[in-house]
Amino acid sequence: MTFLATIKGKLADRAAEGIAASLTVLLVWAAYQVAPAVLPAIEAVTSKKVLLALLVTSLVLNFVFVLVAFFSSKKAEFRIKYGIYWDREKNPHCPACKIPIGGYAEYSAGKGYYCKPCNKIFRLTDVAGKDIDPMQAVSEL
Ligand SMILES: [Zn+2]
Repeated sequence: MTFLATIKGKLADRAAEGIAASLTVLLVWAAYQVAPAVLPAIEAVTSKKVLLALLVTSLVLNFVFVLVAFFSSKKAEFRIKYGIYWDREKNPHCPACKIPIGGYAEYSAGKGYYCKPCNKIFRLTDVAGKDIDPMQAVSEL
């Protein structure tokens, strides 16, 4: 990426953040202006039963969101073994960009897994630099 493209990308990011921040301030201000007129009307028509139902619904939804966030963050966990990331199903992932990689083969640069986006071959080696067979790595996971 050229220097100019990097600057353009950063400016676009900052512009989007600025627009989002301005909209948030505008919405809070609008809610602050409208609230005194609307809140008494809402209080007049809602009973304590309805408020309690809303509270319980809100608590249940929050609990569900916390569970979903917890399990979706757990899914992306990788384990590093012999220089390669492995997921829970023992599939190899690129150690640089974490996308699934396959096709362990002999390349001109040596044996390993090839990651197309990174354009690199990642060797499967132990700490001494000795090549490890993929079957052995999978069996040790
Ligand atoms: Zn990669």
